[in-house]
Amino acid sequence: MTPGIPARPGRPKHDPPRIGIMGGTFDPIHNGHLVAASEVAWVYDLDEVIFVPTGRPVFKLDKEVTNAEDRYLMTVIATAPNPKFTVSRVDIDRPGITYTIDTLRDIRAQYPSAELFFITGADAVTEILRWKDVDRMRDYAHFVAVTRPGYSDPGAIRHAPEGMVDALEIPALAISSTDIRHRASLSEPVWYLVPDGVVQYIAKHGLYRR
Ligand code: ATP
Ligand code: MG
Repeated sequence: MTPGIPARPGRPKHDPPRIGIMGGTFDPIHNGHLVAASEVAWVYDLDEVIFVPTGRPVFKLDKEVTNAEDRYLMTVIATAPNPKFTVSRVDIDRPGITYTIDTLRDIRAQYPSAELFFITGADAVTEILRWKDVDRMRDYAHFVAVTRPGYSDPGAIRHAPEGMVDALEIPALAISSTDIRHRASLSEPVWYLVPDGVVQYIAKHGLYRR
């Protein structure tokens, strides 16, 4: 390496690289998501965390979701300052409903040798482990379930196959996209719950207005 010139950001420290996958609807992305990804990256010494906005989320078929390009762009804006954070379009470019097993398969195809860590909150891990693909999913990645205010100790972790899911306590941020959409719909402030660029994107595009 040339003295004085820092290593290129994103160059993996590990071989094979250790890569986190942070899936979510990100409608919109908020600081709870960013802290979860940052904490797991720190504790598990990850080289990169890939944020993957969902297409049509299987858990939210009964709900209206903001169009994928807006959610994708807000995710890019929110993650841009962190050299370890990247964003993938695999889920939004795949037609149909988003299943976690497809996300894992697509990321695995892009990073054949990487060690993958799928990051989820205490609520979402319960949903994911309910699916029949659990046994196949564990072939692709370790699962890390982070604590989330309002969702206590997910029993699902205990019922998951031995060693499949780690639980990790992170600083509590009682922030949800549902609450941010509600606030935005009432023109209440969302500053400091989401990154500044996301506050501005929501206002500029009139998202979540009634
Ligand atoms: P919504 O209210 O629309 O469901 P959300 O805030 O739950 O939005 P999602 O996009 O559904 O956000 O969540 C993506 C992932 O981030 C999930 O694994 C979820 O458990 C996790 N997550 C979301 N908010 C937090 C938080 N405040 N702390 C820890 N994990 C979180
Ligand atoms: Mg959610």
